[in-house]
Amino acid sequence: MQSRGDYLAALGIDDWRQRRAMAASVSATPASTAAVAHGAAPGPGVDPESWDAIATEVAACRKCGLCETRTRTVFGVGDRNATWLVVGEAPGAEEDKQGEPFVGRAGGLLNSMLRGIGLARERVFIANVLKCRPPNNRDPAPAEVAQCLPYLERQIALLKPRIMLAVGRIAAQNLLATDTPIGKLRGHVHRFGSAGIPLVVTYHPAYLLRSPTEKRKAWEDVKFARRVAAGTQA
Ligand code: SF4
Repeated sequence: MQSRGDYLAALGIDDWRQRRAMAASVSATPASTAAVAHGAAPGPGVDPESWDAIATEVAACRKCGLCETRTRTVFGVGDRNATWLVVGEAPGAEEDKQGEPFVGRAGGLLNSMLRGIGLARERVFIANVLKCRPPNNRDPAPAEVAQCLPYLERQIALLKPRIMLAVGRIAAQNLLATDTPIGKLRGHVHRFGSAGIPLVVTYHPAYLLRSPTEKRKAWEDVKFARRVAAGTQA
């Protein structure tokens, strides 16, 4: 079992006590529970705004060209009663294969960031702005976001999270409909949607793996988000 110090070590925070290799990943909900069906529309009598109905719709979605190149849709994973919603950009190669967001090294670092504030991956819900991988990890096109974002909005309407953590520039800018640089979006409490859900911005773990000196800022961001979720940060 990992200590809090291990998670801080993974973030490069210097008040950790031991430097052990971070576990490659923390056990997560199997992808099979994330995408419950492939190609089947919700049957009669099924609430179209239920989790399973939305998952069924996403699994069969062909609303934008990314359906041609994806391996699997990535619906999202985690606790459907979570108070935290983590939102990234889009599936990468590994996510596209596994059908689950934030796997691999970046996912391991995200897990560490959450663990650092006492949150197990299984206790949050994790999703992306896009459900399908853009080829070669290019940035999502505005038309693709326009087609796909309503799925996330429907998930948010069901989840009613207490806090949203937007990880990475693309997620933050699309959720907030802005082109403000991520450095200026950090450190503020934004509001998402008509419900005004508090939203905090941080760096994407894939970026942090490339720029480890920024990990400290990300650690400040998740602690800031924790205070916002707890209602102790205006
Ligand atoms: S990216 Fe979204 S809108 Fe496009 S095909 Fe995938 S699920 Fe549908």
